[in-house]
Amino acid sequence: MKRTIRDLDVRGKRVFIRTDLNVPIKHGAIGDDTRIRESLPTIQHALDQGATVIVASHLGRPRGKPSGELSLRPVAARLAELLGRPVAFAEDSVGATGKQAIAQAGPGALVLLENLRFHPEEETNDRPFAEALADLADVYINDAFGAAHRAHASTEGIVRYVDVAAAGLLMAKEVEHLGALLAAPARPFVAVLGGAKVSGKIEVIENLISRVDTLLIGGAMAYTFFSARGWPTGSSLVEDDLIDAARGIDTQAAEAAVVLELPSDHVVTGKIEPGAPCEVLHVSDPAIGARMGVDIGPATIDSFSGVITGAKTVVWNGPMGVFEIDEFAVGTIAIARAIANVRGTTVIGGGDSIAAVTKAGVRDRITHISTGGGASLEFLGGRTLPGVAALPDK
Ligand code: ADP
Ligand code: MG
Repeated sequence: MKRTIRDLDVRGKRVFIRTDLNVPIKHGAIGDDTRIRESLPTIQHALDQGATVIVASHLGRPRGKPSGELSLRPVAARLAELLGRPVAFAEDSVGATGKQAIAQAGPGALVLLENLRFHPEEETNDRPFAEALADLADVYINDAFGAAHRAHASTEGIVRYVDVAAAGLLMAKEVEHLGALLAAPARPFVAVLGGAKVSGKIEVIENLISRVDTLLIGGAMAYTFFSARGWPTGSSLVEDDLIDAARGIDTQAAEAAVVLELPSDHVVTGKIEPGAPCEVLHVSDPAIGARMGVDIGPATIDSFSGVITGAKTVVWNGPMGVFEIDEFAVGTIAIARAIANVRGTTVIGGGDSIAAVTKAGVRDRITHISTGGGASLEFLGGRTLPGVAALPDK
């Protein structure tokens, strides 16, 4: 058990809370604000206890340079709205600007720091940068489960330079839920993977194979596996450099007696746009030509749903198709509904997957919606997350 903010007395202290406020923002307007809402309990708790609260997060991938598009300023406004109190904004996370903003806001105030990744030192976990962040506060709280699989200055390095560190309430909830699942999953245990890319998930898939009974793979991810099996892929998203890795996973699954099920049919189209003509084909059908696969087909929906319905534990990350377009969302929505009907434990992680269960209207029927996509999969694969490991136990 990790020490949490509830175990501390933070009255009158400056509390640095690393949150995951990485929400979609287009032209200054915030899209889905789930991550901001999920961060509120810890922030509110610290404020209620009489702390001065300094909130920090990354947003997108600014590649170590300031960027107007990736400023957290709109998030400060939304935070103020949701909490019903003023939120000061510091134009820079460290240095004189950060310190001044905190001093100016005064005791008991709430300050949001600018995007941590405007500094390249955040992602390189640079020591002076971690020290500069630590220098802003008396207490460090990590509530950014979604960023815990990365050893960055604000998630890992900083812990070495603060006097007191603990997990936030969201972090504690995630570790508790996912930890229980990892320790003793009710079986059959089924993992459903999809989404855009295999890259970055190879290791996760390899780890999951040693834990699950069945692995269902759909979405764009399936096409690298199709290619490995010699099936026609047209212009579907295939990662050529990972075909060997996909073949290796096929073998590994067979050796572990884990069922790895790929789609048997799919929806193909010449264009990813609403109203584009499309057709259902068997996955081995060369009639795909130069078109691309954008959703799983009806036979796959039946088969995947059957496996899911018989499961006692289901973990899902990654949509089954280009669900942003209604015509290609059929497979994803059917799988979301099948998961919602499971009599057992269901866990969903990943921004797009959460959007998909919301679109399917079944969000309330999922046991645990994890704020971390990559982080939750890595955790369930048994990997020690650096951001979690760095935090002290109770
Ligand atoms: P999450 O955010 O849940 O972790 P990802 O970001 O990995 O999921 O993947 C989601 C994206 O994958 C969506 O934008 C979706 O359109 C895309 N996608 C799924 N299937 C396909 C496909 N067959 N071809 C192209 N894109 C796909
Ligand atoms: Mg995504």
